[in-house]
Amino acid sequence: MLIILNKKATQQDQKELMKRLEFMGFVSAPSHSDGQLSIVVIKGADDEINMELFQKLPLVEKILPLSQQFKLAGREFRQHTIIDIKGQTIGGDALTIMAGPCSIESEENIFTTAKLVAEFGATILRGGAFKPRTSPYDFQGLGEPGLRFMHDAATKYGLLSISEVMEIEQIDLVAKYVDILQIGARNMQNFSLLKAVGKIGKPVMLKRGFSATYKDFLMAAEYIMSEGNFNVILCERGIRTFETFTRNTLDIAAVPVLHQLTHLPVIVDPSHGTGIRELVVPMARAAVAAGADGVMVEVHPEPDKALSDAKQTIGVEAFAEMVQSFKMINKIIK
Ligand code: PEP
Ligand code: MN
Repeated sequence: MLIILNKKATQQDQKELMKRLEFMGFVSAPSHSDGQLSIVVIKGADDEINMELFQKLPLVEKILPLSQQFKLAGREFRQHTIIDIKGQTIGGDALTIMAGPCSIESEENIFTTAKLVAEFGATILRGGAFKPRTSPYDFQGLGEPGLRFMHDAATKYGLLSISEVMEIEQIDLVAKYVDILQIGARNMQNFSLLKAVGKIGKPVMLKRGFSATYKDFLMAAEYIMSEGNFNVILCERGIRTFETFTRNTLDIAAVPVLHQLTHLPVIVDPSHGTGIRELVVPMARAAVAAGADGVMVEVHPEPDKALSDAKQTIGVEAFAEMVQSFKMINKIIK
């Protein structure tokens, strides 16, 4: 249920009303819908709630029952989510470009990459410090020192940063160094991890599981949001199909479908989505043409030498060309 307050309501009124709701036994969270303050009642099934009771509360303009399965992720709740991180927005008119190595490899490597991707139009630096590798014998990431290098590199070159968190125990550490926490495809349905990142104040980018339907994906987002964290970004990164030529099948249709179903920003990762360097730029272009709110690509100054995912990592020149072409695509579609 969504309680939309009238235009006179202040944040203090919103807080007081939430206290009242808590006293009545409901779990609620503050929100806003199209410029008006609102309160979303998270726990307490709609059919058990006497809506008339709420209608009579002071400063209440209207009540929406939120009948969609994804109460918070669905568009009944909100039309658009625009996430503001240190003045940089994700969603809405912005085109977010996340770039960087698959893994943070060394201080020198992340500084060089940050400098180059910033110069050619990236807005967010990516890099894993805790890596979900298919083989336990492969490079597992640098852990905390890697996060520190990435934080310093991102700060120096005016970028935001994003890194994956694989376990609940890593959340505080990763959150200390980066602006956005990434939940990887393998953990999309790790519900205890989702709930835990739902309790912190940092934005979360949730990657689609290999075999997740749109509904599974949005329900996973709902887990995060139901704990009060509404700053969720969705990332389409390819799914498993019968095709084996590519690492995954990048589902470009996910972009318009998700935009229809949810207000959350949608980012596309053509690197993991294809697994093939030559396909990254064309598929990134396709994603932007389909209306994606941004892309995440793996970039390395010497892609063949990347310690992980070298085959799908592009060089700086290709990255620069890709960003240039986005400008032309945007002109046509916007
Ligand atoms: C990544 O982006 O570093 C990653 C491991 O991606 P995914 O979880 O989509 O495989
Ligand atoms: Mn990777």
